[in-house]
Amino acid sequence: MRVTLLGTGDTTGTPTVGCDCDTCTAARDRGVERTRFSVHVANERTGESLLIDASPDFRYQFLREGVSLPDAMVISHIHFDHLDGLGNVFRILDDVPVYAADETDPETGQSVAETVADDYYYLDAITPEPRTPFEPFETCGFEVTLVPVDHPPLVCYGVVVEEPETGAKLTFSGDTSYDVPDRSRAVMADPDLFLADAIVPASLCEHHPLGGRHEGPDGTPRTFGTKHMTREGALALAEDIGAAKTRLVHLAHFYPAEEAFEDPLAVDGEVYDL
Ligand SMILES: [Zn+2]
Ligand SMILES: [Zn+2]
Ligand SMILES: [Zn+2]
Repeated sequence: MRVTLLGTGDTTGTPTVGCDCDTCTAARDRGVERTRFSVHVANERTGESLLIDASPDFRYQFLREGVSLPDAMVISHIHFDHLDGLGNVFRILDDVPVYAADETDPETGQSVAETVADDYYYLDAITPEPRTPFEPFETCGFEVTLVPVDHPPLVCYGVVVEEPETGAKLTFSGDTSYDVPDRSRAVMADPDLFLADAIVPASLCEHHPLGGRHEGPDGTPRTFGTKHMTREGALALAEDIGAAKTRLVHLAHFYPAEEAFEDPLAVDGEVYDL
């Protein structure tokens, strides 16, 4: 399993358009970036590849990294930065299954799969494939499981990808607070690589109108506001699920410049062979 981090940023990315903060400036100086979230997972055994989330930066990411076009996609939730790149497949791909959860979201009255079908009803190249969370399905030679996480007010799912032949395991947290249900943690457990939403460091919670929550034993908030984990929360979750290696993703340009490019914060283009 070869994992390429196509997009490691939050919804505005780094550098952010029109921003000259120290972190965006440092990114330009270093020649690194964090485009909107997406991960390419290649199966060397079958020659296929799976795309986790359809970034609005899809075209640029595939040109930049030179990875193969996906044979299938999975969508974690319906926010712009994870879904709205789907239109990029027009005239590029012929028939691509798009896997997404089948549970009705009380907020929208639709499942993620139904929203994909509705929003992209005109796009013949995709076939929405509803799947039930916690029920593994097979695609690209992988076993894939959607696990509910906590991203109010929308439903959102972590994604677990396993290669049954080699035993390689990738877990993506999805966009989530630290309040990931135990049943989901059990499925996410013991990955070779854990990609965890860590939008900002805990120190920035004082600037969120809702502050932080899910404090650890030392009082450090593991959730920023209600929707995302802090860096500290993501690392606590990594420890809880026993991740062999962790890269933090979905990162905002609000990280102070001196912390923004430290391990284990990811940047675009990182490649991992599991
Ligand atoms: Zn900035
Ligand atoms: Zn989101
Ligand atoms: Zn997001």
